[in-house]
Amino acid sequence: MVILKGKSVFGGIAAGKIRFFRRKERSVKRLHITDTEREVSRFEQARQEGIRQLEQLYDQAVRDVGEANAAIFEVHRLMMEDLDYRDSVVHMITSQQVNAEFAVAAAADNFAAIFSSMEDAYMQGRAADVKDISERLLDILTGAAEKADEDEEPVIIGADDLVPSETLQLDQDMVLGFATMYGSANSHTAILARTMNIPAVIGLGEAFSQDYDGHMAVIDGFEGLVYIDPDEKVLEKMKERQEEARRRRELLIRLKGQENITLDGRRIQVYANIGHISDLGAAIQNDAQGIGLFRSEFLYLESRDYPDEEQQFQAYRKVAEGMGGKKVIIRTLDIGADKTVPYFRLKPEENPAMGLRAIRICLTRPDIFRTQLRALYRASAFGNLSIMFPMIISVDEIRQIKEIIGQVKEELREEQVPFREDVELGIMIETPAAAVNSGILAQEVDFFSIGTNDLTQYTLAIDRQNASLEEFYDPYHPAVLKLIRTTVEQAHAHGIWCGICGELGGDLKMTELFLAMGVDELSVSPALILDLREKIRETDAGKAREKMLAKCRDLLYDGKE
Ligand code: PEP
Ligand code: MG
Repeated sequence: MVILKGKSVFGGIAAGKIRFFRRKERSVKRLHITDTEREVSRFEQARQEGIRQLEQLYDQAVRDVGEANAAIFEVHRLMMEDLDYRDSVVHMITSQQVNAEFAVAAAADNFAAIFSSMEDAYMQGRAADVKDISERLLDILTGAAEKADEDEEPVIIGADDLVPSETLQLDQDMVLGFATMYGSANSHTAILARTMNIPAVIGLGEAFSQDYDGHMAVIDGFEGLVYIDPDEKVLEKMKERQEEARRRRELLIRLKGQENITLDGRRIQVYANIGHISDLGAAIQNDAQGIGLFRSEFLYLESRDYPDEEQQFQAYRKVAEGMGGKKVIIRTLDIGADKTVPYFRLKPEENPAMGLRAIRICLTRPDIFRTQLRALYRASAFGNLSIMFPMIISVDEIRQIKEIIGQVKEELREEQVPFREDVELGIMIETPAAAVNSGILAQEVDFFSIGTNDLTQYTLAIDRQNASLEEFYDPYHPAVLKLIRTTVEQAHAHGIWCGICGELGGDLKMTELFLAMGVDELSVSPALILDLREKIRETDAGKAREKMLAKCRDLLYDGKE
């Protein structure tokens, strides 16, 4: 048995086989081949197998996600059957006497370059498809695909690290847990694991190697431990812990339907953070009073091209209707930094976290923004929807946003499309600039939601993605807490409400302090809602405030309050 220590991202116990995530990147070697006939036949067999797989995938996808979404596999099959493509690979094998893998990869590069250079956006998009089919053929030629098909049981996903789009591509029903070599607890993938309710341990280091692929393991998401080839004693202990967690859940379920009210009668809104429509079930199951943060960028991350107005409208409408009249706060796209999408064609940047991100993209590429706003306003007719804007630093940005909103509303009125005129507009306070100037910004919007993940990153100048800086990444830093305090006070001074939707909002050690500061709403991963309810119901907000003033006067108020 091997025990590896990492960092816990989400509590819970998972036991099963480890399956290492296969990244579709590889180096293909050029080999000199004398028996080219045999090599052509290897390629031909792989091609036939690829066509068979794509037909199967298409049928499966039609059943799972419908014909329109399954069409991509049909496109791939047609490409794989394409004679120009086939001839070009065969020609390369015979004329250059190279191995099938090299010919497949080189042909893919050539075709992708041709497609990319075309004017037509549709044809440009085909470059990615040609790469995809080449990856499939390489999987088959190298035998990787046979292994990938092996898992019929859910597995523990092992990886060096996972980016959000990779995490999203995984079939949730087949994932017992995540275990990664690297990664940071504040990364979006970690947040996804929390949202998906999946036990996860990250930062296991190089000791967690691909050699463990296929081994049995237990993830202890409470302690941040991974047991590889666990012995009977560990399995027994883990079973007990699982049982303990189950008992605790039952206890919390008893809190379902109860109010989030402090001992001294203050009502707090406890909302859910979601990144996907499929998270709605977890939000409802855990009795969320609303959605405090719908990270709409995941719609973009999952797409191969800009999601159009109709696609977005349907998604927002589903969430609004699904929550049946409860508040649903949708954040406009926060692409950039670690969340990149190829079709946005963002230029590489020296400091992406400080670069063209979130609202900055929306204001420099208003067409994309307008499509999202139209979809949001159309969906507003179907529920209690609010819109929130990320990464705000100035009043000027809010004014620009409002101008575009004005135009969007005017268009919809002219088209006689129904929408709500009085959609609440809020901003995320996640930059020190916004927190310091919150008194001015509060005069422009209906609510604030504090994004403590980025607020910590930008206040402390520490990259939230950089795992090696985690010992310095301190969300309890007095400077961060002071900015939170200022923001809440300024919101209230101007008659608007203020919540927290960053990860710190779900940190039960902080609940008392946040209630003492007067925070009105906490938006957290669905799985944390009932724990938070329990904590709120045990807290006396008035006494907590007295305690805060007595203990933290110097720290939070420079001794002046
Ligand atoms: C935050 O920054 O705290 C936040 C909630 O936004 P995200 O984590 O999506 O950047
Ligand atoms: Mg943020």
